[in-house]
Amino acid sequence: MWAMFLGCSSAAILKLDLYGSVPVFVQTARNAIMTKNCHNDYKMKFPTDEEYPDLSAHNNHMAKVMNRELYDKLRSKSTPSGFTLDDCIQTGVDNPGHPFIMTVGCVAGDEESYEVFKDLFDPIISDRHGGYKPTDKHSTDLNFENLKGGDDLDPNYVLSSRVRTGRSIKGFTLPPHNSRAERRAVEKLSIEALASLDGEFKGKYYPLCGMTDAEQDQLINDHFLFDKPVSPLLLAAGMARDWPDARGIWHNDNKTFLVWVNEEDHLRVISMQKGGNMKEVFRRFCVGLQKIEAIFKKHNHGFMWNEHLGYVLTCPSNLGTGLRGGVHVKLPKLSTHAKFEEILTRLRLQKRGTGGVDTASVGGVFDISNADRLGSSEVQQVQLVVDGVKLMVEMEKKLEKGESIDDMIPAQK
Ligand code: ADP
Ligand code: MG
Repeated sequence: MWAMFLGCSSAAILKLDLYGSVPVFVQTARNAIMTKNCHNDYKMKFPTDEEYPDLSAHNNHMAKVMNRELYDKLRSKSTPSGFTLDDCIQTGVDNPGHPFIMTVGCVAGDEESYEVFKDLFDPIISDRHGGYKPTDKHSTDLNFENLKGGDDLDPNYVLSSRVRTGRSIKGFTLPPHNSRAERRAVEKLSIEALASLDGEFKGKYYPLCGMTDAEQDQLINDHFLFDKPVSPLLLAAGMARDWPDARGIWHNDNKTFLVWVNEEDHLRVISMQKGGNMKEVFRRFCVGLQKIEAIFKKHNHGFMWNEHLGYVLTCPSNLGTGLRGGVHVKLPKLSTHAKFEEILTRLRLQKRGTGGVDTASVGGVFDISNADRLGSSEVQQVQLVVDGVKLMVEMEKKLEKGESIDDMIPAQK
């Protein structure tokens, strides 16, 4: 995978992972500076065969689904705001693969993208979300009291806990497609809405434009802020246009509840704290998120949601709950065990490095989170993380004692 990824790229950015200071290369996309696909109606003068992208070296969900027939059927369509098939797939064309995860390879530019290009999105959604069908219905459960346990993940292993989701504000196009004015309007609305939070949620907005490099780096290093726009996935999808205009972070006074504005989604809502009390993190997440939703609704700006897709977000991988609940956990022994990958798959968990999606793990510390977001509720997904991480920590302790974990390998969830 690495070879494939490196082979087609033109530039590399050195990135330090924070737990080990070991350099990890983040590779920029094939068209390193490519930030936006140009609308070009003249391309319809050419036959599909001549316009069809070269997907021969690709390994992402879009490339698996795409073929000439499908491209031909969809290439002339566009959503009411003007998002086209080529806009959807450009990120997957320019990023044939990713060294650590199987990427989706396409994005939505507005709420209607999922409908207008459903012949492309439906099979991708099914592929990415365990066979989720076009007729399936998604369930939402933000009642934190339904979570069992989760307040006792061993802090000697679990360094920090975090739950995040995205939300899209109805009536605006999504970050791959939105205009400067739309982006600024989203920021303005968000600042107004978040300013009315109080109690444990009282906080302040910090626009990226008003930050020094040092302040920004500190927030990134502390894992509070999104990375600078270096991710090839973000760049090639057009989400870094005009950076840092109208981007920023809002957080409460003790930095346990945070909202990112205008990164990959209009809003990313995050609850996090050090240690292993996932129950408390999830409580704060549910309460804060529902407060935010109520305020936006009061201002006549609901979130994009429907029965089938749940919350509608930029990346099809985040449809449904948009939730990624995860811990930074030390698993130096288990992570070198031959069955590590299989255990993760069986528990329906995914691993990342601790510096974000583009980083590798260092020193046996991983970001372990739920793999699924669609077809099960927020509570069910966090429950999988809590139960799965607990089991993995027990396995780690067994391996430390030199004992076998063969009888602890879970059944497929
Ligand atoms: P996402 O897009 O799901 O929010 P990324 O992988 O892009 O996640 O990471 C974003 C930031 O959040 C990174 O700085 C990462 O280190 C931080 N982060 C993710 N999970 C945790 C966690 N459990 N504890 C602390 N920081 C975390
Ligand atoms: Mg991210």
